[in-house]
Amino acid sequence: MSTLHIRGNRRALLTTAGAAGLGVVSVFALDACSADGGGIGGEDAAAQTAGVPDLQDLENAEDIWQALLDGNQRWADGAAVHPHADVQWRESLVEGQAPRAAVFSCVDSRVAPELIFDTGVGDIMVTRTAGEVFDPLVSESVSYGPAALEAPLLVVLGHQKCGAVTAAHEALLAAEEGTELEEHEYALPETVEALRPAYEAAKGESGDPVDAMIKANVLLTIEALKGHPNLAELVADGELTVVGGVYSLETGLVTEIS
Ligand SMILES: [Zn+2]
Repeated sequence: MSTLHIRGNRRALLTTAGAAGLGVVSVFALDACSADGGGIGGEDAAAQTAGVPDLQDLENAEDIWQALLDGNQRWADGAAVHPHADVQWRESLVEGQAPRAAVFSCVDSRVAPELIFDTGVGDIMVTRTAGEVFDPLVSESVSYGPAALEAPLLVVLGHQKCGAVTAAHEALLAAEEGTELEEHEYALPETVEALRPAYEAAKGESGDPVDAMIKANVLLTIEALKGHPNLAELVADGELTVVGGVYSLETGLVTEIS
């Protein structure tokens, strides 16, 4: 039995919370009335997050995506509120999780999705590989949030100056032109090969070829994930929306692409 039939964990979380006497409302409002938590929780956290919609309250993909973009704007402006980072919130997640979006992005240390979207623990389910390339193993992780935990949004996120895409572009161009490739201390032949379709798709695009390849990679990844066995039916039924974006290291902003 490899097929996933374990959707409904969000409901399970709500039920568990109710059974524990916390109630749905109190569970999802914990940060707003957050009391004496340690860390960056407590009254300071409550004051900081005041006025920022709680991602956990949002049900539809469009609202969740807008909330992530709003969080990204706070991050870019240096006004991040770091929600859902207090002790009480952490403890409320012991019995279950209900991430509202899955994010598939690059391993680049400058592009941490939880930070750049100004979210907290339990809010988004992140899978990261170099150049956000995937194979059957990785795609099972990417699809877990939408397929098993009912996250209605999947974000594929590329970024400016992606080292993996740049390296793949160099390698594929050198192979095509028969030129010698500068030696690197590490090799990533599988990643280069996985990025070949993006390299081919970006040919003929105007502007910087690596930027075009970064964008092409996001768009091809979106299309491939939409057809994944764990996700295709959700997409067809309108239960899952897949969007793409590219993050700018310079501005801190995510630009939606389609
Ligand atoms: Zn990268």
